[in-house]
Amino acid sequence: MIGRTYLERGEPVVVLIRWNGPGPRNVLIQRADGSKVVRPFRGLRRPKEETPMPSVNPPTNAKRRDLQAQVITRDGGACQCRTGTPTACGRPHTCGAGRCLTRHTPAAPLHVVARDDIRPESAAALPPGDLIALCDSCHRALLTRRRKTRNRTVPVPDALF
Ligand SMILES: [Zn+2]
Ligand SMILES: [Zn+2]
Repeated sequence: MIGRTYLERGEPVVVLIRWNGPGPRNVLIQRADGSKVVRPFRGLRRPKEETPMPSVNPPTNAKRRDLQAQVITRDGGACQCRTGTPTACGRPHTCGAGRCLTRHTPAAPLHVVARDDIRPESAAALPPGDLIALCDSCHRALLTRRRKTRNRTVPVPDALF
């Protein structure tokens, strides 16, 4: 237990020293702010990750699946790539006169992506109105296009050292 992290009233602390002997077992702990305190070992809790925490992911995934289905249904089960719009993948789509004609099938499901070029973390929280359905090819082409634009607007140095 030396060097282990425990929770003291919900805050992580590290046990540095443990004293054995008669009476209450005391430990020297270091709190997150760096301060060190001697206190009884009793009352410290094991951090949560050591106990299995069921059913945190399933509801989130189900919610995301619902949202995805909702967007695909709203978009009529068809890829929403249109040339000349911000979500155009850049391919000409001549046979659809600028519209991509790919439809949603269970074997090749449509991707649901943010209408605007934003970070994936923020895209996960978007309402259906800010999302559109795209087929796999358009999705991939659009991602490549966005990545290129992003690199132009935010120059990244090759190396720092
Ligand atoms: Zn498409
Ligand atoms: Zn396209």
